Amino acid sequence: WHVGLLPGNADNAPRFEVSALAAESRRQAQGRALVVATGAIERFYPRPGWTLPGVVGLGAATLMLKASGVLPGRRVAVVGPGPLAVSVARLIVDAGGEVVAICDPNPLHAWLKALPAMARQPGRLARGSAWLAGLALKAVPTYRGWDVRAIHGEQDVEGMTVGRVDGQWRPLPQSEERSIAADAVCIGYGFAPATDVYQLLGAARRYDSALGGWTPVLDRGQRSNVPGLYGAGDSAGVLGAAAASDTGRIAALSAALDLGYLDAVTYERKIRATRRSLARAASFGSAVTRLVQPRATAVGWVPDHTVVCRCEDIHAGELRAAIAAGAQEINALKAATRCGMGPCGGRVCGEAAGALLESAGFSRERSGQLTARAPLRPVPLSALTGSFDYGDIPFPQTADT
Ligand SMILES: Cc1cc2nc3c(=O)[nH]c(=O)nc-3n(C[C@H](O)[C@H](O)[C@H](O)COP(=O)(O)OP(=O)(O)OC[C@H]3O[C@@H](n4cnc5c(N)ncnc54)[C@H](O)[C@@H]3O)c2cc1C
Repeated sequence: WHVGLLPGNADNAPRFEVSALAAESRRQAQGRALVVATGAIERFYPRPGWTLPGVVGLGAATLMLKASGVLPGRRVAVVGPGPLAVSVARLIVDAGGEVVAICDPNPLHAWLKALPAMARQPGRLARGSAWLAGLALKAVPTYRGWDVRAIHGEQDVEGMTVGRVDGQWRPLPQSEERSIAADAVCIGYGFAPATDVYQLLGAARRYDSALGGWTPVLDRGQRSNVPGLYGAGDSAGVLGAAAASDTGRIAALSAALDLGYLDAVTYERKIRATRRSLARAASFGSAVTRLVQPRATAVGWVPDHTVVCRCEDIHAGELRAAIAAGAQEINALKAATRCGMGPCGGRVCGEAAGALLESAGFSRERSGQLTARAPLRPVPLSALTGSFDYGDIPFPQTADT
Protein backbone atom coordinates (compact mmCIF):
# COMPACT_ATOMS: atom_id res chain seq x y z
CA TRP A 1 0.00 0.00 0.00
CA HIS A 2 3.01 2.29 0.11
CA VAL A 3 6.46 2.65 -1.44
CA GLY A 4 9.14 5.19 -0.69
CA LEU A 5 12.75 5.92 -1.44
CA LEU A 6 14.95 6.29 1.63
CA PRO A 7 17.82 8.69 0.93
CA GLY A 8 21.36 7.31 1.02
CA ASN A 9 24.27 8.56 3.10
CA ALA A 10 28.06 8.09 3.18
CA ASP A 11 27.68 4.45 4.31
CA ASN A 12 24.49 3.38 2.55
CA ALA A 13 23.09 3.67 -0.97
CA PRO A 14 19.45 4.91 -1.30
CA ARG A 15 16.96 2.11 -0.62
CA PHE A 16 13.41 1.45 -1.68
CA GLU A 17 10.99 0.66 1.12
CA VAL A 18 7.82 -1.30 0.38
CA SER A 19 5.02 -1.49 2.97
CA ALA A 20 2.51 -4.26 2.45
CA LEU A 21 -0.14 -6.27 4.19
CA ALA A 22 0.40 -10.03 4.19
CA ALA A 23 -2.11 -12.29 5.98
CA GLU A 24 -3.47 -9.30 7.92
CA SER A 25 -0.04 -8.36 9.27
CA ARG A 26 2.08 -5.42 8.26
CA ARG A 27 5.29 -6.19 6.39
CA GLN A 28 8.06 -3.86 5.33
CA ALA A 29 10.92 -4.68 3.00
CA GLN A 30 13.87 -2.61 1.85
CA GLY A 31 16.12 -3.08 -1.14
CA ARG A 32 18.52 -1.30 -3.46
CA ALA A 33 16.45 -2.28 -6.51
CA LEU A 34 12.70 -2.49 -7.04
CA VAL A 35 10.91 -4.24 -9.90
CA VAL A 36 7.34 -2.95 -10.24
CA ALA A 37 4.92 -5.64 -11.51
CA THR A 38 1.55 -4.30 -10.38
CA GLY A 39 -0.31 -5.43 -13.52
CA ALA A 40 -3.18 -3.54 -15.10
CA ILE A 41 -6.56 -2.11 -14.12
CA GLU A 42 -9.82 -2.62 -16.00
CA ARG A 43 -10.98 0.25 -18.15
CA PHE A 44 -14.66 1.18 -17.79
CA TYR A 45 -16.55 3.65 -19.91
CA PRO A 46 -19.57 5.08 -18.13
CA ARG A 47 -22.95 4.46 -19.71
CA PRO A 48 -26.39 5.50 -18.46
CA GLY A 49 -27.43 2.75 -16.01
CA TRP A 50 -23.95 1.25 -15.54
CA THR A 51 -24.19 1.59 -11.73
CA LEU A 52 -27.20 -0.78 -11.53
CA PRO A 53 -26.68 -4.03 -9.62
CA GLY A 54 -26.03 -6.72 -12.24
CA VAL A 55 -23.44 -4.72 -14.20
CA VAL A 56 -20.12 -6.51 -13.75
CA GLY A 57 -16.63 -5.85 -15.17
CA LEU A 58 -15.27 -8.49 -17.54
CA GLY A 59 -12.32 -9.19 -15.22
CA ALA A 60 -14.60 -9.53 -12.19
CA ALA A 61 -16.93 -11.79 -14.19
CA THR A 62 -13.98 -14.02 -15.08
CA LEU A 63 -13.06 -14.30 -11.39
CA MET A 64 -16.68 -15.05 -10.41
CA LEU A 65 -16.86 -17.81 -13.00
CA LYS A 66 -13.39 -19.30 -12.61
CA ALA A 67 -12.70 -18.92 -8.90
CA SER A 68 -16.20 -19.27 -7.44
CA GLY A 69 -18.17 -21.04 -10.19
CA VAL A 70 -20.85 -18.31 -9.94
CA LEU A 71 -22.81 -17.11 -12.98
CA PRO A 72 -23.19 -13.28 -13.17
CA GLY A 73 -26.88 -13.78 -14.06
CA ARG A 74 -29.33 -16.13 -15.79
CA ARG A 75 -29.54 -14.18 -19.05
CA VAL A 76 -26.29 -12.33 -19.56
CA ALA A 77 -25.25 -9.74 -22.14
CA VAL A 78 -21.48 -9.44 -22.71
CA VAL A 79 -20.04 -6.16 -23.96
CA GLY A 80 -16.46 -5.36 -24.92
CA PRO A 81 -14.07 -4.87 -27.81
CA GLY A 82 -11.46 -7.61 -27.29
CA PRO A 83 -10.91 -11.32 -26.67
CA LEU A 84 -11.83 -11.05 -22.97
CA ALA A 85 -15.50 -10.53 -23.89
CA VAL A 86 -15.39 -13.71 -26.01
CA SER A 87 -13.68 -15.55 -23.14
CA VAL A 88 -16.34 -14.43 -20.62
CA ALA A 89 -19.15 -15.45 -23.00
CA ARG A 90 -17.55 -18.87 -23.44
CA LEU A 91 -17.14 -19.33 -19.65
CA ILE A 92 -20.83 -18.46 -19.11
CA VAL A 93 -21.98 -20.92 -21.78
CA ASP A 94 -19.66 -23.65 -20.42
CA ALA A 95 -21.08 -23.08 -16.93
CA GLY A 96 -24.63 -23.62 -18.24
CA GLY A 97 -25.63 -19.94 -18.46
CA GLU A 98 -27.34 -18.15 -21.34
CA VAL A 99 -25.55 -15.40 -23.27
CA VAL A 100 -28.27 -13.25 -24.84
CA ALA A 101 -25.81 -11.12 -26.85
CA ILE A 102 -22.17 -10.32 -27.41
CA CYS A 103 -21.81 -6.66 -28.29
CA ASP A 104 -18.40 -5.65 -29.69
CA PRO A 105 -17.77 -2.05 -30.79
CA ASN A 106 -15.09 -3.22 -33.21
CA PRO A 107 -16.18 -4.08 -36.73
CA LEU A 108 -15.13 -7.45 -38.17
CA HIS A 109 -12.37 -5.85 -40.27
CA ALA A 110 -10.58 -4.62 -37.11
CA TRP A 111 -10.28 -8.26 -36.01
CA LEU A 112 -9.14 -9.38 -39.48
CA LYS A 113 -6.44 -6.68 -39.41
CA ALA A 114 -5.16 -8.04 -36.09
CA LEU A 115 -5.00 -11.66 -37.31
CA PRO A 116 -1.48 -11.70 -38.88
CA ALA A 117 0.13 -10.40 -35.64
CA MET A 118 -1.95 -12.79 -33.53
CA ALA A 119 -0.79 -15.66 -35.73
CA ARG A 120 2.68 -15.30 -34.16
CA GLN A 121 1.18 -17.13 -31.16
CA PRO A 122 -0.68 -19.92 -33.03
CA GLY A 123 -1.73 -21.73 -29.83
CA ARG A 124 -3.51 -18.68 -28.44
CA LEU A 125 -5.09 -17.88 -31.80
CA ALA A 126 -6.38 -21.45 -32.09
CA ARG A 127 -7.85 -21.27 -28.57
CA GLY A 128 -9.68 -18.01 -29.37
CA SER A 129 -11.00 -19.43 -32.64
CA ALA A 130 -12.32 -22.49 -30.78
CA TRP A 131 -14.17 -20.21 -28.32
CA LEU A 132 -15.77 -18.31 -31.22
CA ALA A 133 -16.75 -21.55 -32.97
CA GLY A 134 -18.34 -22.86 -29.73
CA LEU A 135 -20.37 -19.66 -29.33
CA ALA A 136 -21.46 -19.78 -32.98
CA LEU A 137 -22.65 -23.39 -32.48
CA LYS A 138 -24.79 -22.21 -29.57
CA ALA A 139 -26.18 -19.49 -31.90
CA VAL A 140 -25.16 -16.66 -29.51
CA PRO A 141 -26.16 -13.41 -31.27
CA THR A 142 -23.05 -11.31 -31.94
CA TYR A 143 -23.25 -7.61 -32.76
CA ARG A 144 -19.96 -6.35 -34.26
CA GLY A 145 -19.67 -2.59 -34.67
CA TRP A 146 -22.35 -2.05 -31.98
CA ASP A 147 -22.04 -0.64 -28.46
CA VAL A 148 -24.27 -0.02 -25.45
CA ARG A 149 -26.26 3.22 -25.43
CA ALA A 150 -27.89 2.60 -22.03
CA ILE A 151 -28.49 -0.10 -19.46
CA HIS A 152 -32.02 -0.23 -18.04
CA GLY A 153 -33.76 -1.43 -14.89
CA GLU A 154 -35.65 -0.24 -11.80
CA GLN A 155 -33.74 -2.03 -9.00
CA ASP A 156 -31.48 -4.31 -11.06
CA VAL A 157 -30.49 -4.77 -14.67
CA GLU A 158 -33.47 -5.62 -16.87
CA GLY A 159 -31.93 -4.98 -20.28
CA MET A 160 -29.91 -2.66 -22.47
CA THR A 161 -30.22 -0.61 -25.63
CA VAL A 162 -27.49 -1.11 -28.22
CA GLY A 163 -26.75 0.83 -31.37
CA ARG A 164 -24.27 0.96 -34.23
CA VAL A 165 -20.97 2.82 -33.75
CA ASP A 166 -18.29 4.09 -36.12
CA GLY A 167 -14.64 2.93 -36.19
CA GLN A 168 -13.90 5.17 -33.18
CA TRP A 169 -16.83 3.68 -31.19
CA ARG A 170 -18.89 6.86 -31.62
CA PRO A 171 -22.66 6.30 -31.94
CA LEU A 172 -23.74 6.62 -35.55
CA PRO A 173 -26.53 9.21 -35.67
CA GLN A 174 -29.93 7.97 -36.78
CA SER A 175 -28.65 4.40 -36.84
CA GLU A 176 -30.70 1.38 -35.86
CA GLU A 177 -31.06 0.65 -32.12
CA ARG A 178 -32.16 -2.58 -30.46
CA SER A 179 -33.39 -3.47 -26.98
CA ILE A 180 -32.02 -6.64 -25.45
CA ALA A 181 -33.52 -8.16 -22.29
CA ALA A 182 -30.91 -9.36 -19.80
CA ASP A 183 -30.52 -9.66 -16.02
CA ALA A 184 -26.76 -9.03 -16.05
CA VAL A 185 -24.35 -7.10 -18.25
CA CYS A 186 -20.64 -8.02 -18.22
CA ILE A 187 -18.79 -5.06 -19.66
CA GLY A 188 -15.23 -3.75 -20.07
CA TYR A 189 -13.12 -1.82 -22.55
CA GLY A 190 -9.63 -3.22 -22.06
CA PHE A 191 -6.92 -2.58 -19.50
CA ALA A 192 -4.62 0.27 -18.51
CA PRO A 193 -1.21 -0.16 -16.83
CA ALA A 194 -1.33 0.25 -13.02
CA THR A 195 1.20 3.04 -12.66
CA ASP A 196 0.59 4.21 -9.08
CA VAL A 197 3.90 2.84 -7.71
CA TYR A 198 5.90 4.56 -10.49
CA GLN A 199 3.99 7.75 -9.69
CA LEU A 200 4.75 7.62 -5.95
CA LEU A 201 8.44 7.17 -6.78
CA GLY A 202 8.45 10.03 -9.28
CA ALA A 203 9.32 7.95 -12.37
CA ALA A 204 8.76 9.56 -15.78
CA ARG A 205 5.62 8.46 -17.63
CA ARG A 206 4.11 9.06 -21.05
CA TYR A 207 0.74 8.48 -22.65
CA ASP A 208 0.81 5.65 -25.20
CA SER A 209 -2.62 4.41 -26.20
CA ALA A 210 -1.05 1.43 -28.04
CA LEU A 211 0.23 0.20 -24.64
CA GLY A 212 -3.06 0.88 -22.83
CA GLY A 213 -2.59 4.50 -21.70
CA TRP A 214 -0.16 6.05 -19.21
CA THR A 215 3.03 3.94 -19.04
CA PRO A 216 6.41 4.38 -17.37
CA VAL A 217 9.25 5.49 -19.65
CA LEU A 218 11.64 2.51 -19.70
CA ASP A 219 14.79 1.60 -21.62
CA ARG A 220 15.36 -1.79 -23.35
CA GLY A 221 16.52 -3.22 -20.02
CA GLN A 222 13.18 -2.22 -18.38
CA ARG A 223 14.96 0.54 -16.38
CA SER A 224 13.06 3.69 -15.42
CA ASN A 225 14.71 7.10 -15.01
CA VAL A 226 14.83 6.52 -11.22
CA PRO A 227 18.06 4.61 -10.53
CA GLY A 228 17.28 1.10 -9.25
CA LEU A 229 13.61 1.19 -10.33
CA TYR A 230 12.51 -1.27 -13.05
CA GLY A 231 9.13 -1.97 -14.65
CA ALA A 232 7.74 -5.31 -15.80
CA GLY A 233 4.55 -6.95 -17.00
CA ASP A 234 1.34 -5.12 -17.76
CA SER A 235 2.31 -2.26 -15.43
CA ALA A 236 4.95 -1.34 -18.01
CA GLY A 237 2.49 -1.54 -20.96
CA VAL A 238 -0.37 -3.98 -21.44
CA LEU A 239 1.03 -6.77 -23.61
CA GLY A 240 -0.45 -9.90 -21.99
CA ALA A 241 0.74 -12.82 -19.89
CA ALA A 242 3.50 -14.20 -22.15
CA ALA A 243 5.19 -10.81 -22.54
CA ALA A 244 4.84 -10.17 -18.78
CA SER A 245 7.12 -13.05 -17.84
CA ASP A 246 9.68 -11.97 -20.47
CA THR A 247 9.78 -8.34 -19.34
CA GLY A 248 9.98 -9.58 -15.74
CA ARG A 249 13.03 -11.66 -16.61
CA ILE A 250 14.68 -8.76 -18.45
CA ALA A 251 14.04 -6.42 -15.49
CA ALA A 252 15.48 -8.94 -13.02
CA LEU A 253 18.58 -9.52 -15.18
CA SER A 254 19.11 -5.75 -15.56
CA ALA A 255 18.84 -5.30 -11.78
CA ALA A 256 21.39 -8.10 -11.24
CA LEU A 257 23.74 -6.47 -13.77
CA ASP A 258 23.35 -2.98 -12.27
CA LEU A 259 23.92 -4.26 -8.72
CA GLY A 260 27.07 -6.11 -9.81
CA TYR A 261 25.74 -9.66 -9.40
CA LEU A 262 26.05 -10.41 -13.14
CA ASP A 263 28.75 -9.55 -15.69
CA ALA A 264 27.88 -7.90 -19.01
CA VAL A 265 28.73 -10.96 -21.15
CA THR A 266 26.50 -13.30 -19.14
CA TYR A 267 23.77 -10.62 -19.16
CA GLU A 268 23.81 -10.37 -22.97
CA ARG A 269 23.80 -14.18 -23.35
CA LYS A 270 20.89 -14.64 -20.97
CA ILE A 271 18.87 -11.77 -22.37
CA ARG A 272 19.12 -12.62 -26.08
CA ALA A 273 16.66 -15.53 -26.06
CA THR A 274 14.26 -13.60 -23.81
CA ARG A 275 14.22 -10.67 -26.24
CA ARG A 276 13.32 -13.05 -29.12
CA SER A 277 10.51 -14.58 -27.09
CA LEU A 278 9.34 -11.08 -26.06
CA ALA A 279 9.17 -9.95 -29.69
CA ARG A 280 6.78 -12.84 -30.50
CA ALA A 281 4.67 -12.32 -27.37
CA ALA A 282 4.58 -8.53 -27.80
CA SER A 283 3.40 -8.90 -31.39
CA PHE A 284 0.35 -10.87 -30.20
CA GLY A 285 -0.14 -8.70 -27.12
CA SER A 286 0.02 -5.39 -28.96
CA ALA A 287 -2.44 -6.64 -31.61
CA VAL A 288 -4.90 -7.39 -28.79
CA THR A 289 -4.17 -4.10 -26.99
CA ARG A 290 -4.75 -2.17 -30.23
CA LEU A 291 -8.20 -3.78 -30.49
CA VAL A 292 -9.07 -2.39 -27.05
CA GLN A 293 -7.01 0.80 -26.98
CA PRO A 294 -8.64 3.79 -25.26
CA ARG A 295 -10.84 6.04 -27.37
CA ALA A 296 -12.10 9.31 -25.93
CA THR A 297 -14.79 9.27 -28.62
CA ALA A 298 -16.36 6.29 -26.84
CA VAL A 299 -17.07 8.54 -23.83
CA GLY A 300 -17.52 12.03 -25.31
CA TRP A 301 -21.16 11.35 -26.27
CA VAL A 302 -22.50 10.13 -22.91
CA PRO A 303 -25.49 12.18 -21.68
CA ASP A 304 -24.94 14.71 -18.86
CA HIS A 305 -26.95 12.62 -16.36
CA THR A 306 -24.52 9.65 -16.62
CA VAL A 307 -22.64 8.89 -13.39
CA VAL A 308 -18.88 8.98 -14.02
CA CYS A 309 -17.40 8.88 -10.49
CA ARG A 310 -19.31 6.22 -8.58
CA CYS A 311 -17.61 6.86 -5.22
CA GLU A 312 -18.50 10.57 -5.11
CA ASP A 313 -21.62 10.41 -7.36
CA ILE A 314 -20.32 12.90 -9.95
CA HIS A 315 -22.14 13.08 -13.29
CA ALA A 316 -20.77 13.77 -16.77
CA GLY A 317 -22.60 17.14 -16.86
CA GLU A 318 -20.84 18.33 -13.68
CA LEU A 319 -17.47 17.41 -15.16
CA ARG A 320 -18.27 19.15 -18.45
CA ALA A 321 -19.36 22.28 -16.55
CA ALA A 322 -16.11 22.27 -14.51
CA ILE A 323 -14.04 21.83 -17.71
CA ALA A 324 -15.90 24.72 -19.36
CA ALA A 325 -15.24 26.81 -16.21
CA GLY A 326 -11.49 26.28 -16.59
CA ALA A 327 -10.54 22.90 -15.09
CA GLN A 328 -8.38 21.83 -18.04
CA GLU A 329 -6.04 19.53 -16.15
CA ILE A 330 -7.21 16.28 -14.56
CA ASN A 331 -6.14 17.17 -11.02
CA ALA A 332 -7.85 20.55 -11.35
CA LEU A 333 -10.99 18.67 -12.39
CA LYS A 334 -10.57 16.45 -9.32
CA ALA A 335 -10.22 19.48 -7.04
CA ALA A 336 -13.23 21.20 -8.62
CA THR A 337 -15.60 18.22 -8.51
CA ARG A 338 -14.13 15.52 -6.16
CA CYS A 339 -14.06 13.10 -9.14
CA GLY A 340 -11.35 10.54 -8.23
CA MET A 341 -11.25 11.41 -4.51
CA GLY A 342 -13.22 8.37 -3.33
CA PRO A 343 -11.99 4.97 -2.18
CA CYS A 344 -11.26 3.75 -5.75
CA GLY A 345 -8.54 6.42 -5.95
CA GLY A 346 -9.55 7.19 -9.53
CA ARG A 347 -8.95 3.64 -10.77
CA VAL A 348 -12.55 3.40 -12.01
CA CYS A 349 -13.34 7.00 -13.06
CA GLY A 350 -9.88 8.41 -13.94
CA GLU A 351 -9.92 7.08 -17.48
CA ALA A 352 -13.40 8.46 -18.18
CA ALA A 353 -12.48 11.87 -16.70
CA GLY A 354 -9.38 11.96 -18.94
CA ALA A 355 -11.54 10.99 -21.92
CA LEU A 356 -14.02 13.82 -21.19
CA LEU A 357 -11.11 16.30 -21.06
CA GLU A 358 -9.77 14.89 -24.34
CA SER A 359 -13.24 15.20 -25.91
CA ALA A 360 -13.20 18.88 -24.85
CA GLY A 361 -9.90 19.36 -26.72
CA PHE A 362 -7.33 18.81 -23.95
CA SER A 363 -4.90 16.03 -24.86
CA ARG A 364 -3.91 13.39 -22.31
CA GLU A 365 -0.36 14.80 -22.24
CA ARG A 366 -1.77 18.21 -21.40
CA SER A 367 -4.41 17.11 -18.88
CA GLY A 368 -2.06 14.67 -17.11
CA GLN A 369 -2.70 11.81 -14.73
CA LEU A 370 -4.55 11.72 -11.38
CA THR A 371 -2.05 11.99 -8.52
CA ALA A 372 -1.38 8.66 -6.79
CA ARG A 373 -1.74 8.70 -3.00
CA ALA A 374 -0.88 6.16 -0.32
CA PRO A 375 -2.46 3.96 0.79
CA LEU A 376 -2.50 2.61 -2.77
CA ARG A 377 -5.13 0.05 -1.74
CA PRO A 378 -7.60 0.36 1.16
CA VAL A 379 -6.00 -1.03 4.35
CA PRO A 380 -7.33 -1.29 7.92
CA LEU A 381 -6.28 1.55 10.21
CA SER A 382 -4.74 -1.01 12.58
CA ALA A 383 -2.28 -1.97 9.84
CA LEU A 384 -1.08 1.62 9.66
CA THR A 385 -0.84 2.25 13.40
CA GLY A 386 0.44 -1.15 14.55
CA SER A 387 -0.09 -1.99 18.26
CA PHE A 388 1.10 0.31 21.03
CA ASP A 389 0.46 1.17 24.69
CA TYR A 390 -1.09 4.52 25.43
CA GLY A 391 1.70 5.21 27.94
CA ASP A 392 4.34 4.82 25.22
CA ILE A 393 3.04 7.81 23.25
CA PRO A 394 5.74 10.52 23.63
CA PHE A 395 3.55 13.45 24.69
CA PRO A 396 5.70 16.58 25.07
CA GLN A 397 6.30 17.49 28.75
CA THR A 398 5.09 20.85 29.99
CA ALA A 399 7.78 23.32 31.14
CA ASP A 400 7.08 23.05 34.91
CA THR A 401 7.19 19.22 35.25
C1 LIG B 1 -9.83 -11.83 -16.60
C2 LIG B 1 -8.53 -11.81 -17.34
C3 LIG B 1 -8.28 -12.77 -18.31
C4 LIG B 1 -7.07 -12.75 -19.01
N1 LIG B 1 -6.84 -13.69 -19.97
C5 LIG B 1 -5.66 -13.67 -20.63
C6 LIG B 1 -5.37 -14.64 -21.62
O1 LIG B 1 -6.18 -15.49 -21.92
N2 LIG B 1 -4.15 -14.57 -22.25
C7 LIG B 1 -3.23 -13.60 -21.91
O2 LIG B 1 -2.13 -13.55 -22.49
N3 LIG B 1 -3.49 -12.69 -20.99
C8 LIG B 1 -4.67 -12.70 -20.34
N4 LIG B 1 -4.93 -11.77 -19.40
C9 LIG B 1 -3.89 -10.79 -19.09
C10 LIG B 1 -2.89 -11.42 -18.14
O3 LIG B 1 -3.55 -11.90 -16.99
C11 LIG B 1 -1.88 -10.35 -17.77
O4 LIG B 1 -1.27 -9.91 -18.98
C12 LIG B 1 -0.80 -10.88 -16.87
O5 LIG B 1 -1.34 -11.47 -15.71
C13 LIG B 1 0.12 -9.73 -16.50
O6 LIG B 1 1.01 -10.15 -15.51
P1 LIG B 1 1.58 -9.11 -14.47
O7 LIG B 1 2.51 -9.89 -13.61
O8 LIG B 1 2.07 -7.93 -15.16
O9 LIG B 1 0.32 -8.63 -13.62
P2 LIG B 1 -0.72 -9.45 -12.74
O10 LIG B 1 -0.70 -10.89 -13.06
O11 LIG B 1 -2.01 -8.73 -12.88
O12 LIG B 1 -0.16 -9.26 -11.28
C14 LIG B 1 -0.10 -8.00 -10.65
C15 LIG B 1 -0.23 -8.24 -9.14
O13 LIG B 1 0.10 -7.04 -8.45
C16 LIG B 1 -0.82 -6.88 -7.40
N5 LIG B 1 -0.88 -5.46 -7.05
C17 LIG B 1 -1.12 -4.40 -7.85
N6 LIG B 1 -1.05 -3.25 -7.17
C18 LIG B 1 -0.76 -3.58 -5.90
C19 LIG B 1 -0.58 -2.84 -4.71
N7 LIG B 1 -0.65 -1.50 -4.68
N8 LIG B 1 -0.29 -3.50 -3.57
C20 LIG B 1 -0.18 -4.84 -3.57
N9 LIG B 1 -0.37 -5.61 -4.67
C21 LIG B 1 -0.65 -4.99 -5.82
C22 LIG B 1 -2.13 -7.39 -7.98
O14 LIG B 1 -3.03 -7.70 -6.95
C23 LIG B 1 -1.64 -8.63 -8.73
O15 LIG B 1 -1.58 -9.74 -7.90
C24 LIG B 1 -6.12 -11.77 -18.70
C25 LIG B 1 -6.37 -10.82 -17.71
C26 LIG B 1 -7.57 -10.83 -17.04
C27 LIG B 1 -7.84 -9.81 -15.95
